[in-house]
Amino acid sequence: MRAVDIIQNKRDGKILSKEEISFFLDEYLNEKIPDYQMSAFLMAVYFKGMCKEELEIFTEKMVNSGENIKFTGIEKFLIDKHSTGGVGDKTTIALAGLFASFNIGTAKLSGRGLGHTGGTIDKFESIKGFAFPKSKEELIKMTNITGTGIMEASNKIVPLDKKIYALRDVTATVQSIPLIASSIMSKKLAIYSDGLILDVKVGSGAFMKNIDSARQLAKSMLDIGEGFKRKVAAVLTNMDEPLGLAVGNSNEVIEAIETLKGRGPKDFTELVETLTAVALMIKGDVKDLEEGKKKVREVIESGKAIKHLKDFIEYAGGDPNLTEDYSLLPRAKHEYLIKSAKSGWVQGIEAEKIGKAGMVLGAGRETKEDIIDHSVGVILNKKTGDHVEKGEVIGKLQYNNDKNLNTSINFVKEAFTISDKKTLEKKVILEIHTVNI
Ligand code: URA
Repeated sequence: MRAVDIIQNKRDGKILSKEEISFFLDEYLNEKIPDYQMSAFLMAVYFKGMCKEELEIFTEKMVNSGENIKFTGIEKFLIDKHSTGGVGDKTTIALAGLFASFNIGTAKLSGRGLGHTGGTIDKFESIKGFAFPKSKEELIKMTNITGTGIMEASNKIVPLDKKIYALRDVTATVQSIPLIASSIMSKKLAIYSDGLILDVKVGSGAFMKNIDSARQLAKSMLDIGEGFKRKVAAVLTNMDEPLGLAVGNSNEVIEAIETLKGRGPKDFTELVETLTAVALMIKGDVKDLEEGKKKVREVIESGKAIKHLKDFIEYAGGDPNLTEDYSLLPRAKHEYLIKSAKSGWVQGIEAEKIGKAGMVLGAGRETKEDIIDHSVGVILNKKTGDHVEKGEVIGKLQYNNDKNLNTSINFVKEAFTISDKKTLEKKVILEIHTVNI
């Protein structure tokens, strides 16, 4: 078999056999196929796509390129929630309290933020003393005791994805649905869970800019899940504007805590209620979404959800009192209020620009080497559909030094579109698709 023939077959739109895909990926991993041939192959996939069978074989090879983790000794039903990435996405923090309230476990690897989107690891690191498990054994123990085990993503899981992703980044092949689907799903399938919930973000601040491409990505990931006989739900959610009101690190921890106390922003509350209800459907505890959401509201009202989050924070080495006293979290020294230049209705708030407004203040990383300031960020005062008066505060910057303050202010001002036309608020949950549930 020759690499060039396989590239040609894909270029000409032929369906590749299991042998061809296996040969190509094995030889690439063993450095027998050079980057330039893999680049050509990726471009061929970009244009010709992959059918369901090819995608399954491709993903399986990715999964098996490194370590697979199957947690033995976890006594809970395991559900992993994965978000394709957005601005203000503090969902994992809130779900730590909610899933545990229903005896659902989560054992997962999470990442740090890069660019305009944040990362779960960074957000939890706002909490002084918070330490993630360092080994599989520690992760299992943490999951059994608190319900949630989160560890920083390791290089040993799907090394092939790391290699291919680096190449996609410099060959304009990141935006290929089968390549995104196999990249995400391989990392999820390499770590065993009983069910998987994919939060597929749609909109200006997301990978998928419109509902059609989000549907295609969701379908590809569900197809892969079906092939692997996993229970998978894909929840398509709005990322045309930031999720909730807080964008940063410690301010997002606070917003997640407030949500578990029943005082969260409407869109974020709706999202965590829905994702938890979907988890209950996967587990078989409820018959439909409405029944699930009702149960979620009950555990929030009873204080059970916040109690579980406190236990999780304490187990990880943080001070659980911070859920009552936010001064125990890093706080920025200064605030800058951004006021509206005119009256009208908020038509939209570009998520990417708000993410960048936080990033330039230090809440995110422009490059992998940047060090985060957990105390800074953006707090929105308005959301799409809200009425605003000229001079009214639309957002607040939390900052420590004014080096990039003006850039940040401009990002927020540019993000907002305000017009005379009355607009409806944005729906956060767009569609739900499932397999094996
Ligand atoms: N996230 C991933 O893990 N892989 C992609 O290809 C895109 C987003």
